[in-house]
Formats: sequence, structure tokens, C-alpha cells
Amino acid sequence: MQKVAVLGATGSIGSSALDVIARHPQAMRASVLAAGRQVEALLELCRRHRPEHAVIADPDGYPALRDGLRAAGLDTRAHAGPAALNALVASDACDTVIAAIVGAAGLSSTLAAARAGKRLLLANKESLVLAGELLMREARAHAATIIPIDSEHNAIFQCLADGNPPTRITLTASGGPFRGWSRTALATVTPAQAVAHPKWSMGPKISVDSATLMNKGLEVIEAHHLFAVPADAIRVLVHPQSLVHSLVDFADGSTLAQLGLPDMRTALAVGLGWPHRIASGVGALDLLAQGGRLEFEPPDLDAFPCLALAFAALSTGGIAPAALNAANEEAVSAFLQCRIGFLDIPDIVSATLDAMPPHAADSLETLLAADARARQLAQASIATRGGRA
Ligand code: NAD
Ligand code: MG
Repeated sequence: MQKVAVLGATGSIGSSALDVIARHPQAMRASVLAAGRQVEALLELCRRHRPEHAVIADPDGYPALRDGLRAAGLDTRAHAGPAALNALVASDACDTVIAAIVGAAGLSSTLAAARAGKRLLLANKESLVLAGELLMREARAHAATIIPIDSEHNAIFQCLADGNPPTRITLTASGGPFRGWSRTALATVTPAQAVAHPKWSMGPKISVDSATLMNKGLEVIEAHHLFAVPADAIRVLVHPQSLVHSLVDFADGSTLAQLGLPDMRTALAVGLGWPHRIASGVGALDLLAQGGRLEFEPPDLDAFPCLALAFAALSTGGIAPAALNAANEEAVSAFLQCRIGFLDIPDIVSATLDAMPPHAADSLETLLAADARARQLAQASIATRGGRA
């Protein structure tokens, strides 16, 4: 019986993961469920999936979680705070960890899973952007298996299954809700418009990242670390149908791709079952039913500067990707609260990167300090723009 810890259980990836796990009751079960602050939603999941442990990151949520579990007559043990989560992740309470917390907040539990040698289904791309070298090193040192839970990287993982090195990777991008829009038109878009993704149903932060194309930029950095490919061997193509999830070129002229409907349960089933294929609840792809067309176009870097900013941060290296990620998290959060406009997001990220002197990423402390400094700079920049949105 595979025991799975679902971190970020109340989110979009968390709920897709629990759906796949529940389809295989003889083979796997959710043994640990963790969430940020939504106690009621976590309790509801505990009633349905009956895990051994439930963790709420926000310590203020602990009494309600404990009392709610008791009132429901469940044996599930309540825990609170990041230290409790990390200890559970590293313990024999689980052998597989689904890292689906959003943002840099997911780094410490992701690292704990890598250091404990778990099978790590990694959705939390921000931890790779913030500390990719460190995370990959820890995973290697402790024989943790990382299976990417990002549709593009999961596609590439599948294409690389025979162990041959790629000569180039092409990440596909849907283009988001504003594909084809000019910079002028983008100036006045609202959070509601930005989170209305045409192809994928996702949490608010990654939805905004998809609208700015920062998501694709974070994914370029993610691919660099996961597959040990240099930035100049990674290309991005906009593919509005979101059916080809990425492509890999090899030395012999072959290009392999993975296709499927845009539903993260496929990637999660790959992660949970690998090397076996297991049912995910996602139907087979029928290209004719999907319109019979697969289109590709280059990204518009003028209207969507975040992608170029991410490539630049990757080539600068050191602390730059950590600063990019932190400034972006702050800017996206301010945009979602209507404190800044959509075009302020790349401006704030760019200004933050410019204000941070280059520095080697020599330790976790250095990276966390860069993350903190970038957040301060971004918040100061947000404060000067407040009211303009
Ligand atoms: P979401 O906003 O729907 O869910 C986030 C989850 O993280 C929630 O359960 C929340 O309670 C939890 N959380 C937030 N802060 C926390 C904290 N400090 N401590 C513990 N838990 C905390 O987000 P999502 O769309 O499910 O995305 C999760 C991650 O997966 C992100 O890193 C995202 O980039 C990545 N991802 C998502 C998708 C997708 O289709 N949704 C696809 C690829 C990658
Ligand atoms: Mg993706």
C-alpha cells in the first residue's frame, strides 16, 4: 500500500491528486493531508479520505482542526505549523509526497521530502526556481525520485524515459487568457479576467502567472534544473490548443512529444503509478473532437516581458532566480488585491532584479535572504504604485 502525503490538499492540484488516489483504494491511500489555513475545507477532506494525519500550516487553525476531527469521530491526528509538517513528511507516515503548496512557502517541506529519500511528485515549481541546484543535489544525495507534476515537465519526463539526453526541449504554452492582446489593452485588465484561463482550471497565483507568461518563465528555470539542460537549449512555443504538452529533440533528428487533454490528473497518475500506467479518470485524446488543429506560434515578448525576465535571471544565475520568484509572488498578490495594475507585475519584478547585486547561491541561507530582500524591495515598489490600479 503506497502511503501518500498530499501537501496543499485543499488546492487545485491537491484535489486532482485525491481524485486519482481514490480510484486505486487497493494500491494507495492519502495518509497525510496538509493545507495552509482553510480548516473547514481540510476537515471535509479528512471526512472523505480518512488520513492518519492532518496538518494546518497556520497555528491559529489548530484548535478548530483538532475539535473538528474529534466531532467527526475520526482517528486522524491534528498537527499545526511547518515543523510538524516537515517531521511528518520525513517520517514513515508516507512514502510518496505530493508537493502542491503554492509559492516559496513550499520549499522547506519539499526539501524535507527530498532529504528523506521519498518519491517526490513536485508541483511546487517555485521551490525549484528558488533553490533548484540545492534541491536537485539533496534529491540525488538521498536517492529521492522526483517526478515533475507540471504538464510540460511531466511530458518531458515521459519523453526522456529511455535515458537518452535531449539536444533541445520545447515547452509549450497556452498563451493564457490574453494571447494576442497588445500592451495597451493589457494595462486595464482585472484580476477576474486574468484568472479566467482558457484551458486549465488552476489556483489564482499560477493563473495570473499564466496570464503574464511568468509561469512559462518559471517553467524554463524548472526545466533547466530538472533535466540539466542549459537555457539556450530550452525554447518556448505558444500552442493555444494545450494538447501537446511539450517536445524533446534528440541527436538523431527525432522529436518526441506527449499529448493529452489538459487535465493534471494525467501527470499525477504518471507520478503515482510510474513506471506503470494507471487510470486517472482522464479520457483519451480525440484530435478530431478537439477541432483537428494543432497550432504553434512564437511568444510575444513585448506584450509579455516576464518570460524574457525569467530567461535573463536564469542566465545571471546565483540569487537572481530566487529574487525573480519572490518579487513575482509579491506583485501577483498585490495585483490579486487590486493594489497594482497588470503591467506593474513585470515592472516590479524587473526593478527588483535591477536593485539586487549579483551574488552566488552558495547556501540555503543566502537564497532565503535574497528571497526576503526581494520581497522588501517589491513591497516598497508596490507601495509607491498603490492607487494607480
Ligand atoms: P492553489 O492555490 O489551488 O492551492 C494551494 C494549496 O497550498 C492550498 O491547499 C493551500 O492551503 C496551500 N498553502 C498555501 N500556503 C501554504 C503554506 N504556507 N503552508 C502550507 N500550505 C499552504 O494552487 P494550485 O493551483 O493547486 O498550485 C499548487 C502548486 O502547483 C503551485 O506551485 C503551482 O505552480 C503548481 N502547479 C499547479 C498546476 C495546476 O494545474 N493547478 C499546474 C502545474 C503546477
Ligand atoms: Mg505548466
